[in-house]
Amino acid sequence: MANLDILTYGFSFTSDQGGFGYSSVSLLEVGSRRILIDTGPSSRRAWVLKALQTRGLELGDIDTLILTHLHWDHCQNADMFPNAKVLVHPKELDYAKNPNPADLNTATYFADMISKLEVNLISDGDSVVEGVKIIDTPGHTRGHISVICSVKGEDLLVAGDAMPDVGTVKRGLPYNVFWNVNDAIESVGKILDSSDIFYPGHDLPFRLDGDKIDYVEGPSAIQVYGYNEGGFGPALTYSVDSCRKPNIDLMQND
Ligand SMILES: [Zn+2]
Repeated sequence: MANLDILTYGFSFTSDQGGFGYSSVSLLEVGSRRILIDTGPSSRRAWVLKALQTRGLELGDIDTLILTHLHWDHCQNADMFPNAKVLVHPKELDYAKNPNPADLNTATYFADMISKLEVNLISDGDSVVEGVKIIDTPGHTRGHISVICSVKGEDLLVAGDAMPDVGTVKRGLPYNVFWNVNDAIESVGKILDSSDIFYPGHDLPFRLDGDKIDYVEGPSAIQVYGYNEGGFGPALTYSVDSCRKPNIDLMQND
């Protein structure tokens, strides 16, 4: 029996002082296997650890990491899990060694960081464990992958940044494309054809029924704290954009 649990939820808010990079971190348990899909940014390291401990687990209990891609906000905590092998697409590993210069989310040292871990290459159609399958979803980056998990008779799709938010459904495109626009559009179509329940990279899980979108779970609010005892520090203002224009920044291609 498989179970998919969100350790830290994804959000797509940002600020005029930089992005939070809060990607979803998902725990997939299948029999005795404990698999993490993405690891989140290092700013959430303590939160990932705490989320595991809350479930009675330790870092060493994770046997497999599936990295949807090698952006900082998805892979930075890959070193935390001493017993995990890392599954990544070979093209993504190549991409990390020679990233698009316009893609400031891939630091050139990520390839070195990953190479210090036990890495297994994985791609379209590969099975991780019974009921857990990889699909290629390139476009956002070169070797982006998504994961289809069979849970209680339904196929749940963990999309990473091929579908970072619910808005991707209407846009038909993720909000950041660093590799290939046509690939990104095709990947969204492939994702929508593969499931009705989606776990986006930077949004709460949602179910799609025709045009109807229902969030499945997750917090409806986040508390943000400021520490300005002096009383003169900058205040926080909050605004919501009704739509997000895709950022397409291609400097390198096939
Ligand atoms: Zn990304």
